[in-house]
Amino acid sequence: MNRAPLIGLDFDNTLISYDQLFFACALECGLIPASLSADKIAVRDHLRESGREDMWTRLQGEVYGARIMEAPVFAGVYEALSALQRDGFAMCLVSHKTRAPYLGKDHNLHLAARNWLEEHGFFDEQGLGWSPDQVFFESTKAEKVARITTLGCTHFVDDLPEVLETLPDMITKVLFSPTGGSDAGSDWLVLREWAQLPELLR
Ligand SMILES: [Mg+2]
Repeated sequence: MNRAPLIGLDFDNTLISYDQLFFACALECGLIPASLSADKIAVRDHLRESGREDMWTRLQGEVYGARIMEAPVFAGVYEALSALQRDGFAMCLVSHKTRAPYLGKDHNLHLAARNWLEEHGFFDEQGLGWSPDQVFFESTKAEKVARITTLGCTHFVDDLPEVLETLPDMITKVLFSPTGGSDAGSDWLVLREWAQLPELLR
């Protein structure tokens, strides 16, 4: 049986890039030295190693909530997704994130993410022309996996191996790994930059 292809997409660190924003926010708050590498993991590790895990948790609430509009879309996302839509791929977004931050100011993180998508043209008829009901924010990883399965995704793109590992075998898995790392030789395709996705799925 041939199924029409349905690509599922993760949101955080797959469509939206937070590295610069984590660095900028942490620097503004005096939490890190300016010499630190401008990426999310470097900021997290610095705070953890200096015993400030709670500051890392608060920072995530800020970045995913009040400051999300400052985070850019990854280069090449629109072009790649438009090309795939023209090739007949349907798509959906399935993300897992808590509705409210664990610490710090209350903020609806699901709504913040939807607003970011709207602001970045995902729902524009002139742009990708998505409908809001193609977008799912779930509260747990288990709910995310259940949603991906129920929707019948034929492909899934995510930056986290631990998500891909839990998906059913019949789903073609794509690990988005812009910085590389020890991700090769597994059960998935590796995507280094968005521009490569149409070619990778052909
Ligand atoms: Mg992610």
